Amino acid sequence: MSTKHTSWAEPYKIKMVEPLFMTTRAQREKAMEEAGYNTFLLKSEDVYIDLLTDSGTSAMSDRQWAGLMLGDEAYAGSRNFYHLEEAIQRYYGYKYVIPTHQGRGAENIISQVLIKPGDVVPGNMYFTTTKVHQELAGGTFADIIVDEAHDPRSTFPFKGNVDLGKLQAVINTYGAKSIPYVSIATTVNMAGGQPISLANLRALREFTTKHGIRVIHDMTRVAENAYMIKLLEEGNADRSVAEIVKEICSLTDGATMSAKKDALVNIGGFLATNEWDVYEEARNLVVIYEGLHTYGGLAGRDMEAMAIGIGESVDDDHIRARVGQVFYLGNKLIDAGIPVVLPIGTFGVFLDAKAFLPHVPQDHFPAQALASEIYLDSGVRTMERGIVSAGRDKKTGDHCYPELELVRLTIPRRVYTQAHMDVIAESVQRVFEHRDRIVGLNLTYEPKYLRFFQARFEKLISA
Ligand SMILES: *Cc1c(COP(=O)(O)O)cnc(C)c1O
Repeated sequence: MSTKHTSWAEPYKIKMVEPLFMTTRAQREKAMEEAGYNTFLLKSEDVYIDLLTDSGTSAMSDRQWAGLMLGDEAYAGSRNFYHLEEAIQRYYGYKYVIPTHQGRGAENIISQVLIKPGDVVPGNMYFTTTKVHQELAGGTFADIIVDEAHDPRSTFPFKGNVDLGKLQAVINTYGAKSIPYVSIATTVNMAGGQPISLANLRALREFTTKHGIRVIHDMTRVAENAYMIKLLEEGNADRSVAEIVKEICSLTDGATMSAKKDALVNIGGFLATNEWDVYEEARNLVVIYEGLHTYGGLAGRDMEAMAIGIGESVDDDHIRARVGQVFYLGNKLIDAGIPVVLPIGTFGVFLDAKAFLPHVPQDHFPAQALASEIYLDSGVRTMERGIVSAGRDKKTGDHCYPELELVRLTIPRRVYTQAHMDVIAESVQRVFEHRDRIVGLNLTYEPKYLRFFQARFEKLISA
């Protein structure tokens, strides 16, 4: 790590700006009502600082923009595909690569290739799209993450770790033959951007090898996870993030990637595997759902930007500033006494809505209500990660009631400044000061799949 700077200051300067829209409280009230109190349904024009997601919202570098001009838009065998393949082999070490339009395209294909009806897929906490694809392929997800991950007050540094005892229990119940793979995310999105340790991954590798079970890596934020290992796990301080990333990948058999996160592009993803048979089967399926196996739903220029972004994403100075900015915001909120998930995640800060609004019962959607209050206060758009995101129990039809009821403040990469972080912290503080007056919501429209994207609500009349 560079020791010249103690601050997390950005290793870049700004060359182009995009004007933002400022709104009045009255305008925001109207916009929120029209959006059914769902921040996903707001128009981006009505948003001042957009923390809905870090997915596809990061700023590309001048080199990536230049890469767009080098797009080879041949239907088959585009030179940009080979650049992408080279970047994935070089930085991640996987053998076979299939581009997809984004992460869920890869999840669909890997699920269909590997999961049979009745199978069980253990993982370090579910992710929304990952779980839906596992279920559509006939599988059931089993959570094997350590208990600490479900406790927003626990400061355990590696809440992304797998509990091997829980994995053993799944094997005892269903048998190793019903487990096509263990699904491992770096970092764990739904736990609040929490990393898995190398020691845990190595132990998992050994354990799964013994039982003949694959490990499939959801590597959406692998560079951020590697940075946390460098910071916190003994013996890694002097290693580069690139080196740690490569070791993480080497402990797994294949991967799905949403390149819209770590890899610094606005669209793109891929599926990677070290197994020829899996590759062959996936290559057959990709033509049905995405496109030919050398473009997978992407333009040549998109693949070029992704190839360049992958290289930039594992640069030590880049990742230190990226995670440093998130920590800056998180520490400001902690200092102000706001209940946030600890430790601070790598890609965003998560407000603990149960602690923030203890008077709002979970089936009145406290996190959804809190996200809409923050927007009304300042035009800062955040998102719900709680009961709405968790969906319904397949068997009983009732809501799933997750331990974690969170509002996510997700920071896009290389987009906002420290002054923006200050505005966000001040707004959350103002909402916290009048939290007693915040009421819950009532669900008025509910889509069948991934309901959080399109659900609509109305404000409950205060008691
Ligand atoms: C975003 C994300 C996905 C899905 O990727 P998309 O590109 O949005 O389809 C899968 N897993 C994790 C952990 C993610 O954050």
